[in-house]
Amino acid sequence: MPDRLRHEGIRRTNFCPIGGQSHVRTADAVMTVGPVRSLSMKRSTLAVAACLPLLSGLILQAPAQAATSTTVSATLSSSTVKIGSTTTVSGTVSGPSDRDVRLEVRLASGWRMLKASTTTSTGSYSMTAPSQWIGGHDLRVVAPAAGTATTGSSTARAFTVKPSWTPAGSSSDWRWLATDGDHPRYNPCRAISWKFNRNGGYAASLDDVKGAFHRLAQATGLTFTYAGTTSVVPSSDRYDRSTAITVGFVSSLSGNIAGRGGGTWSVHDGYEEMVHGSLALDRSEHLRTGFTSSGDATWGQIMEHELGHVLGLGHAAGSNQLMNGTASSRNHLMGAGDLSGFRAVGLHAGCIPNAVRTV
Ligand SMILES: [Zn+2]
Repeated sequence: MPDRLRHEGIRRTNFCPIGGQSHVRTADAVMTVGPVRSLSMKRSTLAVAACLPLLSGLILQAPAQAATSTTVSATLSSSTVKIGSTTTVSGTVSGPSDRDVRLEVRLASGWRMLKASTTTSTGSYSMTAPSQWIGGHDLRVVAPAAGTATTGSSTARAFTVKPSWTPAGSSSDWRWLATDGDHPRYNPCRAISWKFNRNGGYAASLDDVKGAFHRLAQATGLTFTYAGTTSVVPSSDRYDRSTAITVGFVSSLSGNIAGRGGGTWSVHDGYEEMVHGSLALDRSEHLRTGFTSSGDATWGQIMEHELGHVLGLGHAAGSNQLMNGTASSRNHLMGAGDLSGFRAVGLHAGCIPNAVRTV
């Protein structure tokens, strides 16, 4: 069983000046939202009063209707499921029919919409729950105000998606990539694009990279978008600036290192935002392709591990964790610590305000 060491990732800190400009934009928004709302309400009241004398002789004025509260019920077809199991959230909304409804999930930064739908003529709705995202989630259904009906919200429903395997080890067995106290992570509220340099890669290498991103999306709740090929050969300080993550093969990494991954982050507004990342794979290594749960290390396993560094995780202590520094037959699958780490760098951690990444 050959063990293969992998670099724990590149570490670079970049203080990006764009963060300052973003901060100014936020200050503007905060200053205008409150006053504009109260002003427009006053204006409409005045307009009605001024128009009434002119119109009263021409039309019958409809009596002012009192706002009615909205009641939203929400039931999950199952509160704990295995990943990929189709699960529905269904219920009813009081008030007008054909109302907009949206399914939301609770993040550290507040509630965020996952999907939207409308109620039927009888006021019922049904949506599929996010069963491809591993972990425990709080979900709710919101019906925005419609006519005289106010905005309504269901109570929060706990929903747990379990992996198809039993994660090994301790849930505390994970570390941040940064060793200086930073907690860099990508802004999870924007899709993360990536490009691939096919040069030197084996035939199915793109399929394996896509498979690794798919598995990481399941563990993090992040959205990754394949943006095509690139000619850039990735290294610790070289990446394609038209995309967030650059993946490719290099002629040789030192020793028995099969891959190297890491990223560059920007410190702003009290956050450490990952902006660019790179994953370099050693084409001279001879590994099995694809993913498996046993036997010798595979390229898919290496890619998943290195992308873990790209997303902001360091090495785990236990040899049964994917993020352990050695790829072996023991860590093909994510362990309990890996899943905790991926949750910490994933969507649950919440949106990063004034995010500077644009690709
Ligand atoms: Zn590593």
